[in-house]
Amino acid sequence: MDNWKANWATSPRKAKMDTLDTNFPFNKFRTSLRSLTRPQCSLLFQLRSNHIPLNKYLNRIGKAEDKFCINYKRYRGTEVPETVIHYLFECPSYDYKRHSLDAKLGRSSRDLKAILLDKEAIRELIRFVGRTKQLKPSLGDVSKFRSMADYQQYR
Ligand SMILES: [Zn+2]
Repeated sequence: MDNWKANWATSPRKAKMDTLDTNFPFNKFRTSLRSLTRPQCSLLFQLRSNHIPLNKYLNRIGKAEDKFCINYKRYRGTEVPETVIHYLFECPSYDYKRHSLDAKLGRSSRDLKAILLDKEAIRELIRFVGRTKQLKPSLGDVSKFRSMADYQQYR
């Protein structure tokens, strides 16, 4: 599974699927990717497409035994599907790590589509994902941002 996760982030099949989503203002989204690292870009594509190594999706494609969040079961004793929204905004095991995300984004903090169109909000979301470390095995370290010097180089 780790191998699959690693390959998924950069697979051409995935890239193709991403471009098929015509409901999303792709150009604006792409502009906001320019200053980000490769793992960070992969993360945003995965969040946007819902094709992300969380159990709901992994189970659907036969890569996880069930679709439920392991942490939630441990904390609350019941089962909820591990969706993108659950992971980012609801999972109680990350409540503490979510504080600065909530503080920064305020009321829009549950609107993923709005977040993905806002450069500052994206950075805050990336920081949160980095803090949880949950996607680290598949994406690498998303918490490292490009330095200003790097950014100039890539423009
Ligand atoms: Zn959870």
